[in-house]
Amino acid sequence: MKNNLVRTISKNGGAIVCAIDSTDIVRNMEQIHKTSATASAALGRLLTGAALMGCFLKGEEESVSLKLKGGGPIGTVHAICGTDGNVRGYCDQPLADLPLNPANGKLNVGALVGTDGTLTVIKDMGLKEPYIGQIPIETGEIAEDITAYYAKSEQIPTACALGVLVNPDLTIRAAGGFMLQLLPGASEEEISLIEQNLSKLDAVTTMLDRGMTPTEIAFAVLDGFEPNVLDESGVEYRCNCSRDKMRRVLKGLGKEELETLASEDPETEIVCSYCNKKYLFSAEQLRELAQSK
Ligand SMILES: [Zn+2]
Repeated sequence: MKNNLVRTISKNGGAIVCAIDSTDIVRNMEQIHKTSATASAALGRLLTGAALMGCFLKGEEESVSLKLKGGGPIGTVHAICGTDGNVRGYCDQPLADLPLNPANGKLNVGALVGTDGTLTVIKDMGLKEPYIGQIPIETGEIAEDITAYYAKSEQIPTACALGVLVNPDLTIRAAGGFMLQLLPGASEEEISLIEQNLSKLDAVTTMLDRGMTPTEIAFAVLDGFEPNVLDESGVEYRCNCSRDKMRRVLKGLGKEELETLASEDPETEIVCSYCNKKYLFSAEQLRELAQSK
């Protein structure tokens, strides 16, 4: 797998930028979930955002889960970045779609997600209690919502851009994003230079389409700051489901529910929400599970 995720830092150490070419990740997602154009953009952006948030945790055994519940036609959108940096996700209504946004002619992600609800971020650090932050959704366009999450919940000045370009035949042309975080102590001068850089940048998908690498995109954000690459890695869409995990999910249903399922069907099928893999459990296996401790 080629390196598609990069972490860069300004020479003075005050600004970190992660950038990703998530085209293959979103292509894989579209093949699994058969998403509509707008749903591809919504779930694709959330997956890209999750990968970037995970990139900021690198070196720590943490996973990040994002849950976007805005009351729009797509339902709830889920994305997880595991401790290995790989991502997976799903949405309730992958086929939901809307006409292009009349204001700008773009995919109307904000309306598909909706703005009547919350973005929940769960960081699991392998401790007893995960860290949970929740903010009201601002635009449903996702990059703005992630930026707002960092500002409100973690008090970290952040800039985020996410993009998914969908071909007319619904295949994914390009996808990617970047995230910038300023460490405490950034001067007014530095902040205004960063703002200038950001205002000069084209959309992420335009830059990727032009052949720019994640490193080149990150360096464009940090233009004038003598940036260096901290590390590069390859991340992909990857589900880590297993028969054992599904058994735990079933076990969680409780004894009564398991007995009912066993009496209704000779075989119960469980489908993984993230990768659509099917797991079959016989009535006998369900009854054993109901009896087990
Ligand atoms: Zn799976």
